[in-house]
Amino acid sequence: MLPYIDMHCDTLGVCLRGESDIFELEDTMLDVKRMMRAGQAAQFFAVFFRPEGERLPNGAPIPADDEFFQLHRSLLLGSIAAHGESFAVARSAADIAQNLACGKVSALLTLEDGRAVRGELERIRRFYERDVRVITLTWNGENCFGSPNSEDARVMNSGLTVFGKQAVEYMNELGMLVDVSHLSDGGFWDVARISRRPFAATHSNCRAIAPHPRNLTDEMIRALAASGGVAGLNFYPPFLSPDTDARRSRVEDMCRHVLHLLDVGGEDCIALGSDFDGIHGELEIGSPEDMHLLLDALARAGLSARQLEKFAYGNVLRVLGDCL
Ligand SMILES: [Zn+2]
Repeated sequence: MLPYIDMHCDTLGVCLRGESDIFELEDTMLDVKRMMRAGQAAQFFAVFFRPEGERLPNGAPIPADDEFFQLHRSLLLGSIAAHGESFAVARSAADIAQNLACGKVSALLTLEDGRAVRGELERIRRFYERDVRVITLTWNGENCFGSPNSEDARVMNSGLTVFGKQAVEYMNELGMLVDVSHLSDGGFWDVARISRRPFAATHSNCRAIAPHPRNLTDEMIRALAASGGVAGLNFYPPFLSPDTDARRSRVEDMCRHVLHLLDVGGEDCIALGSDFDGIHGELEIGSPEDMHLLLDALARAGLSARQLEKFAYGNVLRVLGDCL
């Protein structure tokens, strides 16, 4: 099977119950062993900052953002230290290629919800120095970068904050990928206007097929593609199906989104962002070991060998090469 790069999972957060290692896990969708069996090239691991007031999976209160980040990073780096023969951190496209050549799966550390940046460029740099290479500017609430996707037109049309605009320029300079998944449409258009480098929607689908505000309109797909960026196919049923109450995540629907992206944005913008361990429902693809089902279905749906390679890893590797 083709090696592939998956731009989003929430596995680290699920593991904060107390596991000290993500090599072999019982009740997650993803672990390093399964990634290796699937021949995966790289996985983006998100540090997802839970909404204030929520609790950890083990019932404990959520620590402050900096401590919370450090817990996730220690879990990832600890696993890498324990399994260095098969698992390595990547801070660039070259790292991923080199790790793959040595038979290692790469991990990229990302922030999901830039709120931990607290409106200070200097703090973006501190996260960069702590291996973070991607920031998902918002989650589903307002923060120092801007506003989230929303059914409320006033929120949806809100652009980036003054800080958010400076931060996009700063991330371009520093060598970090800007992620617009979860962002408001207004914020998306600010990023499209300001960013001098390709940007990504790491785990978002097509609104023309599944009319959820988390998905991208055709105009947005064209702008993303024009920047040289990518959209990662998300496996969450309500983002895949025309029925926003859908419970089944079907390969057939995934193919429709990839074909639509291909049609609207071209073959250089198609990518993968499963959202494993952040999604639920009846999943036809529920772990890296099932990923061949998607690649086989896309081949049957008419993607050429070149397009399949671009979807699986080529496009993301190009974007990381352009940005980091
Ligand atoms: Zn997300």
